[in-house]
Amino acid sequence: SPTPLIAGNWKMNGLASGLSEAQAVAAGIGASKARVAICPPATLVERAAAALKNTKVAVGGQDCRAEVSGAFTGDVAAEMLADAGASLVILGHSERRAGYGETDAVVAAKVGAALRAGLEPIICVGETLDERKAERAIEVVTAQVKGSLPAELAGKAFSVAYEPVWAIGTGLTPTTPEIEEIHIAIRATLVERFGEHGKTAPILYGGSVKPSNAAEILHAAEVGGALVGGASLKAEDFLGIINAL
Ligand code: 13P
Repeated sequence: SPTPLIAGNWKMNGLASGLSEAQAVAAGIGASKARVAICPPATLVERAAAALKNTKVAVGGQDCRAEVSGAFTGDVAAEMLADAGASLVILGHSERRAGYGETDAVVAAKVGAALRAGLEPIICVGETLDERKAERAIEVVTAQVKGSLPAELAGKAFSVAYEPVWAIGTGLTPTTPEIEEIHIAIRATLVERFGEHGKTAPILYGGSVKPSNAAEILHAAEVGGALVGGASLKAEDFLGIINAL
């Protein structure tokens, strides 16, 4: 099974003073079998990469634009993240899909840009509460996977993060069988799409992961790591999750 990945998504949190938390994570990791990454705001990517150089903690961005350069005020290109020292990038987070109208096609274009810049994409999918209540979670999530993953991913390192929208920042999580059901469906979709290579991508779970629920979630079928929001901001909490594996 794929090497697990545990990534922290700092979202719009963190100043340079907060990099001490990232360094404390690096110092505390020990012999974890997981790969670990921190995705700080774009302003901190370069300093995080410098602070975490020669540690086991990689640095990722939280989004990028599909275009290489141009008149896109406020946006960041994949190559700029790579140039600043990132090796990964989160794409298609529900906060971007909902807040910026990012469609599957937009996400797929961003994934292509990330690959061309040498970044490993973490591609997020997940249903809303209404979609889950309507028993459409599997259908919605597998459609997002199909639409957001371009053919260029064949042979490339990437991960998919299943983040139910209703579990993000709410303290609510699906039951373990509910997580497994979706992760198994995502795996089947990846294999259908990429053959054997579809078995190599870790499928992360995200949404209210914390030290107290991490062990159960991380050991569920087809769960290959976690994408952690709030609990990645404090080294103690993030290490508690990493060490639950
Ligand atoms: P929380 O861990 O704060 O629920 O956030 C999850 C998330 O959105 C990670 O990308």
